[in-house]
Amino acid sequence: MESGENSLPSGSDGVKRKVSYFYDPEVGNYYYGLGHAMKPHRIRMTHALLAHYGLLQHMQVLKPSPAKDRDLCKFHADDYVDFLRGITPDAQQDQLRQLKRFNIGEDCPVFDGLYSFCQTYAGGSVGGAVKLNHGVCDIAINWAGGLHHAKKCEASGFCYVNDIVLAILELLKVHERVLYVDIDIHHGDGVEEAFYATDRVMTVSFHKFGDYFPGTGDIRDIGYGKGKYYSLNVPLDDGIDDESYMSLFKPIMGKVMEVFRPGAVVLQCGADSLSGDRLGCFNLSIKGHAECVKYMRSFNVPLLLLGGGGYTIRNVARCWCYETGIALGMELEDKMPQHEYYEYFGPDYTLHVAPSNMENKNFRDLLDDIRSKLLDNLSKLQHAPSVPFQERPPDTELHQVVLRDEDEDDKDERWGPDSDTEFDDYSNPVPGRVKREYIEVDRNDSGSYHNHLDRGRDFDMPFKENASSKGSGSNGSG
Ligand SMILES: [Zn+2]
Repeated sequence: MESGENSLPSGSDGVKRKVSYFYDPEVGNYYYGLGHAMKPHRIRMTHALLAHYGLLQHMQVLKPSPAKDRDLCKFHADDYVDFLRGITPDAQQDQLRQLKRFNIGEDCPVFDGLYSFCQTYAGGSVGGAVKLNHGVCDIAINWAGGLHHAKKCEASGFCYVNDIVLAILELLKVHERVLYVDIDIHHGDGVEEAFYATDRVMTVSFHKFGDYFPGTGDIRDIGYGKGKYYSLNVPLDDGIDDESYMSLFKPIMGKVMEVFRPGAVVLQCGADSLSGDRLGCFNLSIKGHAECVKYMRSFNVPLLLLGGGGYTIRNVARCWCYETGIALGMELEDKMPQHEYYEYFGPDYTLHVAPSNMENKNFRDLLDDIRSKLLDNLSKLQHAPSVPFQERPPDTELHQVVLRDEDEDDKDERWGPDSDTEFDDYSNPVPGRVKREYIEVDRNDSGSYHNHLDRGRDFDMPFKENASSKGSGSNGSG
């Protein structure tokens, strides 16, 4: 099923996509601490590039409404969420047992504003899912999200709450089947674990495997019980290049789309799989990485694009900017526009960077073997499962602020009471085109999934024991 080659509007399907993009102007101010590899500033750099490439005017730009305690508790344990809400850098010394219990420490430190950071990035992903559920957009983007390692009651690999699991739970209110695809260099363990025993979510993770964080993601891990064959793991080795990566990604994802037929797709676009990443060891170009986005986009299924890892931050911003262009069906000039972070991109000041000449340890016969094993697993899926829907659970409360809308003329506008003071720090390259508006899509008070979803028990708890943190150390990743 190689139908993904002409996915842009100029290509065979000829369809332009409506894109909703979630961004909080505060997100770049959160700081994990001196020397920590995870830098939320990269989200702000990405946004600056989007602005100066002129992409914001083609999307609906939304400030996510922060996820509330009860939203986070749809996946996470109450006491874990309570702890995240209450902990401060100063209070740490008195809470050593709790810190240990919830795996808060070196990789996942306590920092100022930690809880609001979690609320912000989770709010963007869940908000994106709600927009997709309402058919407001075809593609929703939250580059601040994608923190795939977080567990039900444990932080892991720079991740505190699992916005991806929360977003998928939201999508499951409307869609019978949701596909999760993870191209971060690290195994998407938190998401896999959450949905390991259900056939309503298929998870597919492409990752470095073998003596590498988090240590899980063996090709033989295929799901459990009803979820057997609904988890797919693609173990890769150092130095994989675009051609090798695509020789697996396209045939596998093509087959997945054919047999699973998801109603929505969530793609975690971790950029630590790029060549030259500070923590990674793959050799993908930005175009190679973005080819995954292009390919998944080509199926015309509602698509949620999320961030994730990525530790050479100039390349992260390059990548996610380019991929936003792909989502919009726009090819961007390689020469970068002047902007506030321009000096990060020297000496070439281009969007694309050449991959390195590192050795590709993924030999042909190894790749062939992986491909045929996974296609064989997929052939065991006889049909796409479906569930009877009784009553649609209410949406998670959503009242984003629209920072600007891609189609300004035909909107039912309701201006928020304090909309003029909300974004003093928001800089837009096209002054006067920023729309500040409250929309209240649905204010139904949402109950717990477990009460509404006919098979909600599937999501009550992780199904696999927490994976042992093999290789856990200071090289974990989001
Ligand atoms: Zn990662």
